[in-house]
Amino acid sequence: MIQNYIGKRAKRFFSIAYPCVFVVTLFGNTAHARQANPYAIDDMTRIIHAGTLLAIPGKSATKNQTVIVRQGKIVEIHRGFLSRSDVDGDDGKETIIDLSEQFVMPGFIDLHVHIVKEYGRGSKLEKVTMDDADNALSGAMYAHRTLKVGFTTLRDLGSPGDSIFALRDAIKAGKVPGPRILAAGNSITATGGHGDVHGFREDVLDVIPTTGTCDGPDSCRAAVRRQVKRGADVIKVTATGGVLSETAAGTGQQLTDEELRAIVETAHSLGRKVTAHAHAKEGIEAALRAGFDSIEHAMWADKGTMKLFVKTGAWMIPTIYPITAVGDTPEKMKKGPFGHMPPAILEKLLKLGRQPKEMGALAYKMGVNIALGTDSGVSPHGENANEFVEYVNIGMSESESLAAGTINAAIAGGIDKITGSIEPGKAADIVAMPNNPLDNIEAVLDVDFVMRDGVVFKNNKRGKFHVE
Ligand SMILES: [Zn+2]
Repeated sequence: MIQNYIGKRAKRFFSIAYPCVFVVTLFGNTAHARQANPYAIDDMTRIIHAGTLLAIPGKSATKNQTVIVRQGKIVEIHRGFLSRSDVDGDDGKETIIDLSEQFVMPGFIDLHVHIVKEYGRGSKLEKVTMDDADNALSGAMYAHRTLKVGFTTLRDLGSPGDSIFALRDAIKAGKVPGPRILAAGNSITATGGHGDVHGFREDVLDVIPTTGTCDGPDSCRAAVRRQVKRGADVIKVTATGGVLSETAAGTGQQLTDEELRAIVETAHSLGRKVTAHAHAKEGIEAALRAGFDSIEHAMWADKGTMKLFVKTGAWMIPTIYPITAVGDTPEKMKKGPFGHMPPAILEKLLKLGRQPKEMGALAYKMGVNIALGTDSGVSPHGENANEFVEYVNIGMSESESLAAGTINAAIAGGIDKITGSIEPGKAADIVAMPNNPLDNIEAVLDVDFVMRDGVVFKNNKRGKFHVE
């Protein structure tokens, strides 16, 4: 009986297995037909007709220009609109992209996002319910959303686990649509500091690990090396306390001067930019003296701090928009999306008020180098371009604001050889909009063409605007 049963099972297995072998053989013979990743850089030549071209923000715009893109890169810029026969390329197969009624400029850069998360009511629980795979998939959605509003490069300054590396690499390989990502991995933080995990039972904390904690200069050197080993492009440090960590530790300095110096030295020796989250004046100044390339937030910087910024040449990434999104008065804040936060967080939030805007205005007036960053994830993903509007509100000209989110952000992030302007040799990161942001900065909120590395991700057909 048993033998008979086994015999039947074996027979069924072979009858299933046989066609499988056949199928494998078929695929083996057609391996060359494997499809390319849908968003990968291709070798097409694209001829862009730009009605107004702001090739290098901060400089003046020009009318009626042709930008030639090949294999993902900008290769030439010509006056007037060139036709296919004017261009050496693919023998008439070149694509003409008609942006002759558009304002064309480099893709936007946001130096401070948390792309795999969006802060809100469920955030605390998500720390124990979402794993790295969940976070990577959420990140793919947020990254695509952010690309569609014109951001072709993002710097992610702290994501849980290793989700951010998977997302960065999948976008680079053209598997999913998204901006180029520079990733920090986990933030370097003192044990119990702003970048550590808070607000859970001790045994629960053990299952939400971060690889960024360090105490003492040697331990901090190791923490930097660990991030680079994991794949970090940039080192993010929480030099002071922060508003959204569930601890009543305030926003003062949390890493010692010695630890900060060790971190900077190690990051630079490994060829990485190093940037500090810092709120309290003493913490910002300690980071500036330690040689940090940039400071995020800089909330309580005063005139003395601004002078130190100017002296060191460090960049400030003021992240102003989140306070508008969250509410810039206690009344708006209590009614806003963060009104439900635990007391330890709410107390710190309520102290902020208009401070980010006043601090940003002072920084601009005193000549501090400012580059664009939003802290999106705190504010909703996809609203990043509002930061350009904030910069005009603190006193910048439209031209300076556009430079802060393109060429200057590229310099601050150490990627100005790759992106930040439309110049031969750089990646073809190009956006277009129907209105002129040099006249009214709010034009950046209505982007209807997005190209990254020569690949077109968005193309709203509007009036004469179409791809041939
Ligand atoms: Zn942040």
